[in-house]
Amino acid sequence: MEPTDSAPATSNITVRRGEPLVVVTDVNKNFGDLHVLKNINTVVTRGEVVVVIGPSGSGKSTLCRAINRLETIDSGSITIDGMELPAEGRALAQLRADVGMVFQAFNLFAHKTVLENITLGPIKVRGMSKADAEEKAMALLERVGVANQAHKMPAQLSGGQQQRVAIARALAMTPKLILLDEPTSALDPEMINEVLEVMIDLANDGMTMIVVTHEMGFARRAADRVIFMADGEIVEETTPERFFTDPQSTRAKDFLSKIL
Ligand code: ADP
Ligand code: MG
Repeated sequence: MEPTDSAPATSNITVRRGEPLVVVTDVNKNFGDLHVLKNINTVVTRGEVVVVIGPSGSGKSTLCRAINRLETIDSGSITIDGMELPAEGRALAQLRADVGMVFQAFNLFAHKTVLENITLGPIKVRGMSKADAEEKAMALLERVGVANQAHKMPAQLSGGQQQRVAIARALAMTPKLILLDEPTSALDPEMINEVLEVMIDLANDGMTMIVVTHEMGFARRAADRVIFMADGEIVEETTPERFFTDPQSTRAKDFLSKIL
């Protein structure tokens, strides 16, 4: 999203928009003999929405997981808000709270209600009172359109509803950025749009987002930048408009000819 003068001065996100938030420098990652991330360099600025696209196996999930330190890296560095990713302990829990993550499979706690799924992190990690956490959770459920499901168990919800709850759960921690790894690819087609609408709303609100998706509609409407990965490399990095209409590399052209 572009910086805007009309945004309220109280919005921290907006005021600090444009500063580097995630800095990935010369990152390499191997799984055994497989070189999965090859010298990855990129900077995500505050308020930016980056779509990561590319064939299966190109390293998109590994990159997301490395940014959240669900995966270690073999060389290079990743900083968030100027801080090297912590290896363990309380600092790591704090990092995970600052970096919201939404996965392809809904990953809600199956034995907790929707409301408990959302309040757990804020109470345990942020030290919020139960009452405050519940009030905030209800507001977030309202925002993603599932407030009437608050007291149900995840399995009673549709996939689209569960994924919206997963987004609300990430937001409940007041994260600095949100990573969404193919958030709509496990959904039935009729549920994809309801999740994309929530994501577009977040993007418009100035949330910093890294989104792995092949949903071109989302990329065109919400992304500031597309990163195209293939074989562990960033092959192209450009605007959605340019990427979809005028891809430069053979690998991007091949890929787009298969998904379009
Ligand atoms: P993408 O998300 O783009 O489909 P991934 O990041 O999931 O790609 O995977 C990149 C490559 O790393 C693939 O070849 C995959 O099989 C391999 N890989 C991913 N996770 C592991 C793991 N934990 N152990 C071994 N190989 C893995
Ligand atoms: Mg993946």
